[in-house]
Amino acid sequence: MKRVTLGDGVLSVSAIAFGCWRFLGDEPPQARAKIDAVGEAGLNFLDTADIYGFGTPGGFGAAETQLGAVFKDAPHLRDQFVVATKGGVALPKPYDASFDYLVGACEASLKRLNTDYVDLYQVHRPDLLASAEETARALNHILASGKAKTIGVSNYTPAQFRALQAHLDSPLVSHQPEFSAWEVAPLSNGILDQCQETGAACLAWSPLAGGRLATGEVSKTDDAERFAALIATLDRLADAYNASRTQIALAFLTTYPAKVIPIIGSQTPARIQEAASAVHISLSRRDWYDIYEARLGSKMP
Ligand code: NAP
Repeated sequence: MKRVTLGDGVLSVSAIAFGCWRFLGDEPPQARAKIDAVGEAGLNFLDTADIYGFGTPGGFGAAETQLGAVFKDAPHLRDQFVVATKGGVALPKPYDASFDYLVGACEASLKRLNTDYVDLYQVHRPDLLASAEETARALNHILASGKAKTIGVSNYTPAQFRALQAHLDSPLVSHQPEFSAWEVAPLSNGILDQCQETGAACLAWSPLAGGRLATGEVSKTDDAERFAALIATLDRLADAYNASRTQIALAFLTTYPAKVIPIIGSQTPARIQEAASAVHISLSRRDWYDIYEARLGSKMP
């Protein structure tokens, strides 16, 4: 599996990450089997968050608790994986990135995950009522106390990233926006340019649009015609590259010339393996632009 370095080589992660938003409600042997399948597919990068599980029977913290139970049962797995988590979504507030909240949230995540540190701690969403200086102080403290090796942000604009970075002692090593062949905003809103400028990785959430690029299912808010055109283009290229539609959709992300790491959400071992194989596909310039143009519904100017 191709590796990508984060934070000047502090972390070496697989080019595809496994997301734990849907890693919930499993009996211990099932949970362990999934993490084993992720490792067998060559993935060493896990992304979770304290809020994953909120609204389900397990509640806030359930996804971290399930992963922590796997680590407790098989401590060697903790060292095998690079573990990223997030804090700062605190419903119903809804966000809190103040010093006390974030430091406490990070400590609570470590307890649930059965670990002394996480490899990457991310602010889940920008809290408009926490100053960049205060959030930075919390992240500086989390790093200095050894609770995280590196830090990053999710759902931040480039300007919010820059404001936070100005108060930090260490670089933000990652942005985490929604990014897929359907949700293409990071290509034009400055996030990916900022990744190129700073060397931060782009951890792409919902890289298959939550599964819709796999199933072809149109959501109520999608432009159905545009969505169908995108699916048709992905299918045509899947034939040409002897690949699946989902592999082409992932290759659209990894062909971009920055460190783009799709965080896949499938809980099915065969699909995780299929996604892992997508890193070997490099789309030609024309094919990449065909996907982008199909999404935009117009030719490049
Ligand atoms: P996704 O990979 O876009 O979608 C995964 C879903 O697609 C699963 O339910 C999967 O079902 C389904 N699927 C159906 N057919 C599939 C196929 N052929 N191949 C692959 N998947 C197929 O990702 P996601 O779950 O929406 O999100 C991934 C991760 O992004 C999360 O776990 C989380 O770590 C992160 N995330 C972050 C934020 C944030 O605000 N930072 C928000 C959302 C998500 P099966 O399980 O049945 O295969």
